[in-house]
Amino acid sequence: MAKEFARAFYDGMPWRRCRKAYISKRIAIDGGLCEKCHERLGYMVHHTVMLTPDNINDPEVSLNHNKLEYVCKPCHDREEGHFIQRSKVQDRCTFDDEGNPIPIPRKEE
Ligand SMILES: [Zn+2]
Repeated sequence: MAKEFARAFYDGMPWRRCRKAYISKRIAIDGGLCEKCHERLGYMVHHTVMLTPDNINDPEVSLNHNKLEYVCKPCHDREEGHFIQRSKVQDRCTFDDEGNPIPIPRKEE
């Protein structure tokens, strides 16, 4: 589900270690609740700065606890349109007067 350029990063030890440490920290603070709704338990660690090929190797961005959020799945999905299953996005298209499919532009990221 991660973007191609991010795969190596998400599979790598530095991120796994960072993510684990962050979750432990959140559990110590409030039991690991979602930082947005504070209702459900966190499900994934989210980067508040959108990772790009330019910043993903900058630990100040990609491995910085101050730029992370522990959120539940509904909150995370609401925030980032690109985590909606790709197939769903492709299903969302409309047709012009001649019956040609027009893809609906994806939400600004
Ligand atoms: Zn939530």
